Amino acid sequence: MKTVTMTIDGKRIKARPSETLLWVALKNGIYIPNLCAIKDKPEPSASCRLCWVEIEGEKKPVTACTAEVKDGMVVNTRGKKALDLSRAGFELLMASHALDCAHCSANGNCELQKIAKVLKCSLKPKNLRKLVRKLPVDDSNPLFTLDPNKCVVCGRCVWECRKQGDKAVLGFAHRGFKRVVTTFGDEQIGKDRCLDCRVCVEVCPTGALVFKD
Ligand code: SF4
Ligand code: SF4
Repeated sequence: MKTVTMTIDGKRIKARPSETLLWVALKNGIYIPNLCAIKDKPEPSASCRLCWVEIEGEKKPVTACTAEVKDGMVVNTRGKKALDLSRAGFELLMASHALDCAHCSANGNCELQKIAKVLKCSLKPKNLRKLVRKLPVDDSNPLFTLDPNKCVVCGRCVWECRKQGDKAVLGFAHRGFKRVVTTFGDEQIGKDRCLDCRVCVEVCPTGALVFKD
């Protein structure tokens, strides 16, 4: 099979032509911050603006989730321009995040904490005013809780839920800053639904969807 040879952070890597840079890096143990990337989704949504990298010969950083690997490509995931953009994207997400790690079930197992560590930045925004929406928490299901105030609108739960066909309940409502994960009809999830399925909770990178136990 034809392969391309490239370098990421000085590491020589072989990949298949047209593979996506983000997945090639992750597969080879090089972590690039990401939240909205979904491996089996044909088109990346590229909405979280976290996976910036620098590619030799390119004037500006590019998002790794939209870049295809090429033979001879030289990638730097730690360049200042790329890190500055990733930090700005992260700060924007955290400006509307209900930060309360000490009382959050995801504490210690949260991708936001991991990303802050990798980017060497605070979970608290320094340059932006905090604007948390104080949305109601859906506690109606016996197995899990949906707290939209901790949601980063990555779309992982909606993608996995829709794969369940007739059983699917999750979707997005509204646009821009008001965008939220909700059920069709904006009803509570309820005590009778989702009792034999937990895919949404398993893929959530934050404390927005968490098991009660
Ligand atoms: S989702 Fe993560 S960053 Fe947010 S409060 Fe919970 S542990 Fe902290
Ligand atoms: S609930 Fe979790 S998985 Fe779903 S969009 Fe929000 S952060 Fe992503």
